[in-house]
Amino acid sequence: MSSYILAIDQGTTSSRAILFDREGQVAAVAQQEFTQHFPHDGWIEHNPEDIWETVVATCREVMASAEVTPDQIAGIGITNQRETTILWDRKTGKPLYNAIVWQDRRTSDLCQSLRDKGHTDIVQAKTGLLIDPYFSATKLAWLLDNVESARERAERGELAFGTVDSFLIWRLTGGQQHVTDATNASRTALFNIHTQEWDDELLALFDIPANLLPEVKDSSDDFGTTEAHWLGAPLLIAGVAGDQQAALVGQACFQPGMGKSTYGTGCFMIVNTGEAPSLSRNRLLTTIGYRLNGKPTYAMEGSIFVAGATVQWLRDGLNLFADASETEALAQKTRSGHSVYLVPAFTGLGAPHWDPKARGAIFGLTRDTGIAEIVAAGLQAVCYQTRDLQHCMNDDMEAPPGNLRVDGGMVKNSWVMQFLADMLGVQVDRPTILETTALGAAYLAGLRLGWYQTLEEIEQLWRCEKSFMPTMEEATREQLYQGWLDAVSRVRSTP
Ligand code: ADP
Repeated sequence: MSSYILAIDQGTTSSRAILFDREGQVAAVAQQEFTQHFPHDGWIEHNPEDIWETVVATCREVMASAEVTPDQIAGIGITNQRETTILWDRKTGKPLYNAIVWQDRRTSDLCQSLRDKGHTDIVQAKTGLLIDPYFSATKLAWLLDNVESARERAERGELAFGTVDSFLIWRLTGGQQHVTDATNASRTALFNIHTQEWDDELLALFDIPANLLPEVKDSSDDFGTTEAHWLGAPLLIAGVAGDQQAALVGQACFQPGMGKSTYGTGCFMIVNTGEAPSLSRNRLLTTIGYRLNGKPTYAMEGSIFVAGATVQWLRDGLNLFADASETEALAQKTRSGHSVYLVPAFTGLGAPHWDPKARGAIFGLTRDTGIAEIVAAGLQAVCYQTRDLQHCMNDDMEAPPGNLRVDGGMVKNSWVMQFLADMLGVQVDRPTILETTALGAAYLAGLRLGWYQTLEEIEQLWRCEKSFMPTMEEATREQLYQGWLDAVSRVRSTP
């Protein structure tokens, strides 16, 4: 009997392969980082071959290190950095250009002109999204218009577009499958989240030929079988979801009102809103949480572009410490209520500000400000930004989450988690398994493969490692938060 599901977690800074058993426990992990390319201010690219090679290498490595043979693997779940856009040649499988990463802001002007023409409402009504460079549509339009002969070749049907999941599945199945799942599709700004189809009006608006697009499947589905030579045997790809939606599943947030926040490179808060999509009045996103048996479950999402990336910048840009784990001890050295604010708007501001032209700043420096205060301010920024999102969700939702499940690389930092609970004024729950993104992909595959019959079975497997309770005085919380709002108002490109 097969004992494991192989989860591929293709993230923004690294690719991971993880073997999970039926109880959702991690049996083995392999991880490889890859190069980030920054060709111009605000541009961020990945080489798709790096993405591909690190995925195959980590899958092989995790099987070898755990001495697991392909016949012990029931199937594959894939989760991926979302929105990142790849255009490739259907004949050769070769990308025409680097992957344009979700954080990339090169299409700011195009988005502005679409907003100026009054298209915001139609895009929000159909996709639940805003017109922003974040989503795939304008990135794909940029590729078609800027890569030599791409548009003519696209019109001739020679090219395929995909988010990272589609690209990986295409490669793993030897070009047999050009598919994606509903959660990934819902991030392109081309997919109608009500009809569950690519939308002709949106395709016309963004000037995208329909023949580029993958077929959209459930998150738990048959996505094809890998060619035997990649992983030693043909394996069924049975679950796919974008990383944040996969984390929602991995955190077992299956009831309306349950929410999770993931603190990796960026921070993403997603709350399950049930069977009917509800649109935000506060510039949050409506998205598909997961789709099972053709039935979508919707979610509301707030995205912060820079979370753990601030920690990376403090480490690599400013050389303030050697390892991210040192930040906890540094932050503990600061007195509470210090005056430093770091606004990490390196690539603009996401929800609820959506200001691509804003840039970062540090405020409130005094003669006794040291490394510890700057590091603490970087960590606190993530909590303040979560508070911004909470504020919007409370306004948008009838039943906003009473507590928050957290995951991602930053939540190992207990100082950050305590400050988060204090700033939100709600309980913050850290699960035993922090690899919730990969776990969600494994659960989605497990549903298809018959490991789990119902979502309730998966819910039973969720375990809390530690709960952080808010202890800060209300007045202190408000005073600190006002300081943050003031700092943000000073980096905005428009008032
Ligand atoms: P991603 O999947 O987006 O690549 P991860 O979930 O692996 O990211 O999280 C990595 C991020 O978490 C990095 O930006 C890193 O700087 C940050 N990080 C890791 N450990 C800590 C820590 N102890 N304190 C604060 N930040 C941390």
